[in-house]
Amino acid sequence: MSEPESIEDFYARVAAATDDEGRLPVAIEAMPGWDIFPFELDGLRVKPLEPLADVEADRRGEDPADCPCASPATPEQEARTVWSNERWVVSDAGMKLPVTLILKPRAHHDLADLPDDLASEMGRLMVAISAAVESLPSVGRCHVGRYGDGGAHLHPFFFGRPTRMPQLRGSCVLDWEENLPDLPDDARLANAGFVGRALVERLGGSGPAWEA
Ligand SMILES: [Zn+2]
Repeated sequence: MSEPESIEDFYARVAAATDDEGRLPVAIEAMPGWDIFPFELDGLRVKPLEPLADVEADRRGEDPADCPCASPATPEQEARTVWSNERWVVSDAGMKLPVTLILKPRAHHDLADLPDDLASEMGRLMVAISAAVESLPSVGRCHVGRYGDGGAHLHPFFFGRPTRMPQLRGSCVLDWEENLPDLPDDARLANAGFVGRALVERLGGSGPAWEA
């Protein structure tokens, strides 16, 4: 039985694949060569590889006392609430896709320390949110993402990938999203409101703050 690889060994292997400027080659046989990659290859190059950091940087809310969940929600946060119950809040993330939602437990947890009862409920919530997002007329798929590199409080994303725009399929949708025009407020409220009402119908709880 061998030990898991160290990050030093992983990093050394990546660094060994770089050129004399420290750049990895653009993998034109992989994603950058696919039809869903948003950028043309002419002039495209990978940034030079940075040195291995000494430690992982602390995230916002690493100490629960400093996490936004330790303070009452601001009026701006309240106004973005799409659905909630005693344990969870679904909010509009304010992005440029037809709908982008963030799910958060009210109590301070990250994914790896979520208690079993909340983990079970999150599974059902993820299914219900995905079904509601996918029933929007402008959405072809609900993509789900948990990154957690900026904030320590669990906040998985639900991205409504626009339907019938095959260039926006898959993991490049967020690179496209940055370049899309802003979503007008009336479309944002209508789409997120539709999802919030569908969640109330399926799960109970409270619907969109702006329809209360
Ligand atoms: Zn928190």
